[in-house]
Amino acid sequence: MEDFQLRPSGGRLYLRPKTVKPCKTCGEPTGRNYISCKECYNTIENLWLMDWNELIAKKDIISGSEDEKLLAEVIVEEIDKYSWTIVDSAMKIIKCKTCGSELGGGDVDCPDCSFAFENLWAYDMDAMNQGNMTGNEHAIRVGRWVIRYPHRQKRIMVESWKFSMPILITGKLPTTQLAQFLKKVFDEDNFDLSNKIYQNFEEAYLDVVSNTKNKRT
Ligand SMILES: [Zn+2]
Ligand SMILES: [Zn+2]
Repeated sequence: MEDFQLRPSGGRLYLRPKTVKPCKTCGEPTGRNYISCKECYNTIENLWLMDWNELIAKKDIISGSEDEKLLAEVIVEEIDKYSWTIVDSAMKIIKCKTCGSELGGGDVDCPDCSFAFENLWAYDMDAMNQGNMTGNEHAIRVGRWVIRYPHRQKRIMVESWKFSMPILITGKLPTTQLAQFLKKVFDEDNFDLSNKIYQNFEEAYLDVVSNTKNKRT
């Protein structure tokens, strides 16, 4: 019999933005410029930080302390016991022993980072099967890994996740067909989706369809 490992949920302390709004700092949909804009960064990252801060407060650990680093080390050795937000947060604190980057975020050819990264995803499968992770939470987790470490991905992949994150953080998720459609738009580069603010993926779809109709026939 397989061991039954209950996967704790994560990311649910954070009060998500309900709508996509232009960022007060960079003017683009909030969350898109995670790497370069503080407000965009916080809008996404606070979802992880709320869980992390709750955990260290419970353990009487101060943020930035050696104890926090030790805790992060314990967590990356026992990732099965913790939620996705806690594991990702710990990996941000730990430096890879091979390349010195945040663990999992180094160059694509660092074997330790690749190993750590690939190890993350069994959790998502289990947690989703157990009802402890939504498809939206899984998408947000993948998206943050892509936009936080863009050097590990193809440019188009990064662009499409930068587009999606402001909508995903409000709780929406595209259907599989819609996601494939939008991926194709990025691949073919025949419509600029970064010009407007869309509240959901359907809006983006309709905009593409109505504005590329003539070109297609
Ligand atoms: Zn911004
Ligand atoms: Zn590495």
